Amino acid sequence: MGRSSKDKRDIYYRLAKEEGWRARSAFKLLQLDEEFSLFKGVRRAVDLCAAPGSWSQVLSRKLRGKKEESEDVKIVAVDLQAMAPLPGVTQIQGDITKITTAQEIIRHFEGQPADLVVCDGAPDVTGLHDVDEYIQAQLLLAALNITTHVLKPGGTFVAKIFRGKDVTLLYSQLKVFFSGVTCAKPRSSRNSSIEAFVVCENYSPPEGYVPNMSNPLLDHCYDVDFNQLEGPNRIIVPFLACGDLSAFDSDRTYPLQLDPSKEYRYTPPTQPPIRPPYQQACHLRKNNLLAKEDSPSVPLDGAFSALHL
Ligand code: SAM
Repeated sequence: MGRSSKDKRDIYYRLAKEEGWRARSAFKLLQLDEEFSLFKGVRRAVDLCAAPGSWSQVLSRKLRGKKEESEDVKIVAVDLQAMAPLPGVTQIQGDITKITTAQEIIRHFEGQPADLVVCDGAPDVTGLHDVDEYIQAQLLLAALNITTHVLKPGGTFVAKIFRGKDVTLLYSQLKVFFSGVTCAKPRSSRNSSIEAFVVCENYSPPEGYVPNMSNPLLDHCYDVDFNQLEGPNRIIVPFLACGDLSAFDSDRTYPLQLDPSKEYRYTPPTQPPIRPPYQQACHLRKNNLLAKEDSPSVPLDGAFSALHL
């Protein structure tokens, strides 16, 4: 592609360069703010998955507008990648799925919670739609997890979401923590893309909820004894024993002749496996070809193919 062809094709790409934004995504956050007034009264903000930094630029310019206002504004940007410095933005090079990253953010805010958390996180796209949607959903849940550690009650969380077939499950998970959840598509987000943004307002976790990084897919090193969790943090599903109590007990051994009046007859399996993984070993054993302790072993695959099984 020539140097100017992207300029011709993509107005937001061109505008971003003209206005000094690091990426065209800046317009997505600006347009979300036009609709939802995201930055009103915000003094502490977190930008998750921030590199190369256009959303952090928006936060920096909008929250630190006037000099006298900029003093008490704190912005933290987190990304796996390093990013060039920005005025008033503290960077953490880290993984949003790690509890240590949440702790670092809290340290930076000196124990004060954030008013706003935004996340434009995107994994490297594989091209396999189901896999991409799944990974994106996991990243959003990681962002939600970290948000429950740092956001103040009543605060706002904005995150990129892929509107795939299981998106309603994500909406219901978000609704557990926020009274208002809206799916928004800024003009600058291409119509051809399933990308959209959830704007989650009024953070109000269930009573007694204790933040944890309990998604087992996300942070394996977090030391939680799930059996000790209580209240809304602990999910107990009903356990039901089924079947007649007088039915056979699968842990007991029964005599072969179940009906003493009849002679026992062996019944073969209805459908034996057609190509079981143990077939090769059975064949080798039958033909005495299995490796002996004091003889060189037969290479399994070689023997198998040489015997034309
Ligand atoms: N909002 C950014 C901007 O305006 O410049 C663009 C973000 S870019 C689309 C997605 C970012 O997500 C990448 O920089 C990537 O490194 C980051 N990312 C993906 N997985 C992450 C993770 N587990 N922890 C932190 N950052 C992650």
